[in-house]
Amino acid sequence: MAGRNGKKGFYEESMETFYRAADLIRMDRRVRMELEEPDFEHIFYVTIDTRDRLVPLPEEELRDFADLRPSGVKAGDALEPLADGAFILHRRALLSADFTMRQGVINIPGKGFFRLEPGGPRKFKAYRIQHNQVRGPYKGGIRYHKDVTLDLFKALAADMTWKTAIAEVPFGGAKGGIKIDPFAFSREEIEHLSLRYVYKLKNLMGPFLDIPAPDVGTNGEIMAFMMRQYTDGEREHHAMRGVVTGKDVRIGGSEGRSRATGQGVVYCLEEWAREKGFELRGARVLVQGFGNVGSAAAEILAAQGAAIVAVNDAHGTVHRDTGLDVAALVQHVHHDPRNLRRSVVGFPGGTPISKSDFWGVDADICIPAALGEEIDGGVAERLKVKIVAEAANGPTTSEGDRVLEARGIDLIPDVICNAGGVTVSYYEWLQNQRLEHWTEAEVNGRLEQALKKNYALIRDVARDRLRRTPLYDSRPYCVGKPIHVRTAAKVVALKRIEAHYVLEGFSQ
Ligand code: NAD
Repeated sequence: MAGRNGKKGFYEESMETFYRAADLIRMDRRVRMELEEPDFEHIFYVTIDTRDRLVPLPEEELRDFADLRPSGVKAGDALEPLADGAFILHRRALLSADFTMRQGVINIPGKGFFRLEPGGPRKFKAYRIQHNQVRGPYKGGIRYHKDVTLDLFKALAADMTWKTAIAEVPFGGAKGGIKIDPFAFSREEIEHLSLRYVYKLKNLMGPFLDIPAPDVGTNGEIMAFMMRQYTDGEREHHAMRGVVTGKDVRIGGSEGRSRATGQGVVYCLEEWAREKGFELRGARVLVQGFGNVGSAAAEILAAQGAAIVAVNDAHGTVHRDTGLDVAALVQHVHHDPRNLRRSVVGFPGGTPISKSDFWGVDADICIPAALGEEIDGGVAERLKVKIVAEAANGPTTSEGDRVLEARGIDLIPDVICNAGGVTVSYYEWLQNQRLEHWTEAEVNGRLEQALKKNYALIRDVARDRLRRTPLYDSRPYCVGKPIHVRTAAKVVALKRIEAHYVLEGFSQ
């Protein structure tokens, strides 16, 4: 069957639990049709002018240029390094250069041999999938990645519809982004690309229409570019700050937003641990992905006394059996300007191990916080943990689900586990509408209650435990038999969404 990498049938597979849950609650056929495909699929192109680049010469061509006279190019900020090994060549690099070029190749002492690739216009495929807005404005992240597809964005947009319903925030679901390797472009090129993306989408987004946020390959800086482009020249631009969330706190972002997804993962784990009588202090943790989500979850758990024993990312894995120094790892990955790929590779406080050994490290908790489809049947067989907390979207395949269940490994499904991001995005949006600024304690207090309550409700629905507590009532959601926790989450989401169609009816 298909994968999150966007092969055929992938969207259908991602909707399997939707159909299972819809059957269980005997969902109205018309509501089912409304939800099984997105409201709108916007597919378009964005163009930008790219800069000249110096691209490393392939090994096999080096011989032909061995005698090339070295060029005296002043590096400084005139040669801008990119994470893929190339350099952007700014014109000022040539002002005082002693330059020798042969067949477009130059030799820069200390850096190597490069071919000059002239800049020029380039086009990129872009997407915004608006899945459903019955509960509120479309809401969902923007992903810049080389492997995105329509099927992937459709699946992720639908996930947002379920997630906003589970988190009880008044939004619908959307997702979008650009097919690009952001590490191969400069900050300025990414800025231009982001501005162009919003230029094209301007009529389709807005604080009460569709509200993007950061996802893989994007961040608060890119949200600032997008907000600027959307509000530029508008008389009432202050009233429009809620057009994107995940902004820097100094320009209308919320305290706690940058760590909210990781913080939410930890709140769910705390609720799981409370019920199990398990101590998070001293727990051994595997983290896959050390970007925004993975590094925040690792930092918060380490501060609670857990040992982060191994971290894997797109480029490698580091392992330390007694626990990695997470603060030093964050410094290495996120604050060392030489680490352009933002990778754990080269971290001196750990030993490199293979990705397959990573999954087999003895631990209590596994937090996949990278991309989808990582925990398949084979990986699920290897894991030596008590629980998988899905910080990423769709990290476990259906086969992985079956194996984890058969092996008695608990699961916190993505739609609740990583809902901290969208929940605090809602708080950010509320603060923007009200022109308020809440403290981090206020944000986290609300987030903790929202996530723990909804996770406990999902668990009750999974076990068919009918009860009314001061925080929730599981009785309207239980389906009369125990069900998988992922299906239970979908049941809660679908019941909340269906209520709008049932109570408001359809405009014909
Ligand atoms: P990010 O771009 O900041 O970090 C991604 C991390 O994953 C990097 O460390 C990267 O090296 C790693 N990675 C990429 N490909 C990999 C591979 N093949 N194998 C191992 N590691 C790989 O992204 P992020 O914002 O931290 O998002 C991570 C996940 O969390 C995504 O699935 C995203 O959809 C989900 N998520 C993010 C948010 C949010 O607020 N940022 C909210 C909800 C869900």
